[in-house]
Amino acid sequence: MTDILDTEIKFLTGVGPRRSELLSKELGIKTFSDMLYYFPYKYIDRTKFYRVSELTPDMPHVQVRGIIEGFQTEGGGRNKRLTASFRDDTGSIKLVWFKGLKWIVDSYKINKEYIIFGKPGLFNEIINIVHPEIEDPDKLEKRISSNLQSQYSTTERLKNNYISSKTINKLQGNLFNQLKTRIKDTLPLWLRTKYKLMELHDALFISHFANENKDLERALFRLKFEELFYIQLSLLSLKINRGNRFKGHVFSVVGDKFNDFYSRNLPFKLTAAQKRVMKEIRRDLGSGKQMNRLLQGDVGSGKTLVALMSMLIAIDNGFQTCIMAPTEILTIQHYNTITGFLRGIDIEVCLLTGSTKKSERDYIAIGLRDGTIKIIIGTHALIEETVQFKNLGLAIIDEQHRFGVAQRASIWKKDRNPPHVLVMTATPIPRTLAMTLYGDLDVSVIDELPPGRKPVRTLHFTDSARLKVFAFIREQIKAGQQVYIVYPLIKESEKMDYKDLEDGVEAITRAFPPPQYVISVVHGRMKSKDKDISMKLFTSGQANILIATTVIEVGVDVPNASVMIIESSERFGLSQLHQLRGRVGRGAKQSYCVLMSADKLSNEARKRIEIIISSNDGFEIAEADLRLRGPGDIEGTKQSGIGFDLKIANLGKDGQILEYVRKIAEDILNDDPLLQKENNIILKEQMKKLRKPEYDWSKIS
Ligand code: ADP
Ligand code: MG
Repeated sequence: MTDILDTEIKFLTGVGPRRSELLSKELGIKTFSDMLYYFPYKYIDRTKFYRVSELTPDMPHVQVRGIIEGFQTEGGGRNKRLTASFRDDTGSIKLVWFKGLKWIVDSYKINKEYIIFGKPGLFNEIINIVHPEIEDPDKLEKRISSNLQSQYSTTERLKNNYISSKTINKLQGNLFNQLKTRIKDTLPLWLRTKYKLMELHDALFISHFANENKDLERALFRLKFEELFYIQLSLLSLKINRGNRFKGHVFSVVGDKFNDFYSRNLPFKLTAAQKRVMKEIRRDLGSGKQMNRLLQGDVGSGKTLVALMSMLIAIDNGFQTCIMAPTEILTIQHYNTITGFLRGIDIEVCLLTGSTKKSERDYIAIGLRDGTIKIIIGTHALIEETVQFKNLGLAIIDEQHRFGVAQRASIWKKDRNPPHVLVMTATPIPRTLAMTLYGDLDVSVIDELPPGRKPVRTLHFTDSARLKVFAFIREQIKAGQQVYIVYPLIKESEKMDYKDLEDGVEAITRAFPPPQYVISVVHGRMKSKDKDISMKLFTSGQANILIATTVIEVGVDVPNASVMIIESSERFGLSQLHQLRGRVGRGAKQSYCVLMSADKLSNEARKRIEIIISSNDGFEIAEADLRLRGPGDIEGTKQSGIGFDLKIANLGKDGQILEYVRKIAEDILNDDPLLQKENNIILKEQMKKLRKPEYDWSKIS
């Protein structure tokens, strides 16, 4: 039986072929269901009427009862507009139209009472409302809309084609009229009863046509509950069933390689947090179940070392290991760090990236297949079909949000007996986001920096203070320190960004001329060999200044660099700023992060800069980021591969609901891991339906 909600949108009353095309293109609404789940972004109380004398230009939408005193045309050409004086017994305001002038004059009568609705503004000291909605009070009883009027986002193109927020609301009404039966509920009755949830049909209806705040709240709660619940149910079911189904390789011994490294090569003591995390990892590795663990830790907290020690345990037990990282530079950095740490210990480490030569590739392919290569470090190149391991025991993903659930899964697809997986992220993410992005993983946190680190001092200067900043750089270089200067690069392909970078290189070369100063430049358009040479120039200490785009955001570790200058810092997101700042403060000297910006800043940019100056705590910053930008913009949520777009819940605001439903999902799965009980059939079906088709979960679970 087909579900009426799958009906194509063109069959909805009021939507023909043309509108259906627009709705589909502009809003992704293709079916009845898409329409129903296109929720208002806010509601305006239409029970309240204002008097003209109460109106101020900073008010949101208001409605007023009064009469139109007369129409007038003003201005000419493109500025031609229709105005009307609208009055009640407390005063008058101006109504303004730029379009449909004739239609307006013909439609409304002078000196008859109307209800107008719109957002007050101010022009020439007079309060006005541009393009108000106008209603005949006689028809008030019959109006389709509700007391709390739904406001939907639309696009310019839709508006130009007369599909306004109001139209969408009307279409929602048509949809409910067209339904022959109530919408089938997607949560089982027992769950609805137990948690006092509204029925789906009612919740959907009220979400579009609300009369009372109390009902609306219950309706929205039900919808958010459901949305978050199914995500958690999916992730947790993945986690629980993976654990039950896969046998993990058991790493029972700690052997020579680990002990050699620990006693001979480890240059410092582990922090307490590193020790604790190592314990957690060792417990997993010996448990007989496959490890799927997330290692969170602020930049510079020493995750690489934890990764290396975990790999040594795997190697001691006869297995191969890999580290996958998102950029080539980062893989090179890892390669250098790890080969450095392993000096004098006989372990073959190789590097595999997109620019690895064919002959080297062939060599690696053989070494991986016969098991002689014990550590392979690489980019996405590692998950290509051609890469075959003899016995991969542990896969480490240094992902910085950039790999998703699906990509993670593709690593363990390589083997019938999947390796243990350790995911490292250096960008601390808020709990709610972690529960969603990494909800299928266990979590370890390194919440302590190695001793002796001085917190980085963060300063903000506008471009007019550039000379002062240059003087400061000279001073630091004179004292033997190195300096990063970073330019924003929103897209590697954008010309404008390179222009900024090129201009910057020129200006900085003028201010810091050779041979007194050595400047190194790195950006995404360079050949990887050249990048490598430039990086080496800086990491070896020969270059005083590294000018770079955000390619250095991740992972680069040069303890002698103590100054990070971020150009056009207003164009960076909070977590990016924090990441960049984390490149300094790694040595014993006091480090500085200087945020350069234009003189004029948007409110949001100013807030970001204030937050980054006032906090050095990555978790705190991540929470602020989530509040400021909302989860949609946070890097990685889109490609998370969870397979669900949030339509109504908001990870920034609905954290409590999220915690609540996660617990409920956990209880259900603990009792019935495969959701086979009669009671849970709806859950299983619904979960299947919500999973994105292109992502085949069956391969992993
Ligand atoms: P992350 O990857 O978490 O950003 P790294 O692993 O790159 O951090 O470590 C940052 C720096 O701190 C490196 O130079 C590393 O050698 C050093 N380091 C790591 N652990 C310790 C420790 N316990 N004591 C002192 N220094 C450490
Ligand atoms: Mg690192």
